Amino acid sequence: MLVTMKEMLDRASIEGYAVAAPNVGNSLDVDAAIAAAEQLNAPIILDVRFENLGPADKRTADPRQFGEWLRHRAEHAKVPVAINEDHGPSYKAAVRNLVWGGCTSIMADRSSLPFEENVAETAKCVELAHSVDVSVEAELGHVGQAATFKPGQAYEEGDSFYTNPDEAVEFVKRTGVDCLAISIGTAHGKYPEGYVPKLNLDILTTIKAALNEAMGYSYPLVLHGSSGTPKDQLKLACSMGINKVNINTDLTIAAMEKVLQSGGKGNVWSLASQGFKEKLLEMIPVYGSDGKAW
Ligand SMILES: [Zn+2]
Repeated sequence: MLVTMKEMLDRASIEGYAVAAPNVGNSLDVDAAIAAAEQLNAPIILDVRFENLGPADKRTADPRQFGEWLRHRAEHAKVPVAINEDHGPSYKAAVRNLVWGGCTSIMADRSSLPFEENVAETAKCVELAHSVDVSVEAELGHVGQAATFKPGQAYEEGDSFYTNPDEAVEFVKRTGVDCLAISIGTAHGKYPEGYVPKLNLDILTTIKAALNEAMGYSYPLVLHGSSGTPKDQLKLACSMGINKVNINTDLTIAAMEKVLQSGGKGNVWSLASQGFKEKLLEMIPVYGSDGKAW
């Protein structure tokens, strides 16, 4: 069943859990993600970087063909599925991914721009997307790259900085975005050996409370760069206001490990998608969305 991300996340925010948003780049990833969600009766968000699609299989060589197939696949899933443009870079890309990608949600990521420019560009994408009932995710504060961190280094000293709660309220009110990715201690990619991210749950609590009050409903928040974060911290964050968890690096590592463990026996692609699926089966209950399909 294909749904908008707003429908999915508003529900998750009220009930206090998060939906898994694996990055998918080809039909094997999509099949593995939907199979894991169906096995746990969980809603799922397919996060697609349309700009990075390559010819990993016949379908992904052409974004139009991939989008059409993706939408069809999602419509026939036994659980609610949202298709989200991950880290949309421009207005032009948003239009293309809405029309070709079959998206029920787009992300306007202008988090590296100054606040006023982020507001203006995100608001333009919201106007476009809402005119065709598509949800919008945006990012405030900057979730940087994990590779820039060193063991013992404080989060704000790396290529990332925390989201300011007052700015979050102003941003959501002025742009009308349906959910907001916030920066609370994680970064994209793989951390260097010895660096363990620590989530700032005080900032999360403050932002959630401020947005709930300002918007008059339980406002959904998103966590990017979840890979490598200890499970107990993720579990807490999902019960305290994070409602979508993006996961990419941990899935890639799990897929590669499965292939290596096989010692060269079996089909490489089947093994990789099995590793991808098993990691999702492990993480969905951490986010608390198992059994939450409707
Ligand atoms: Zn991200």
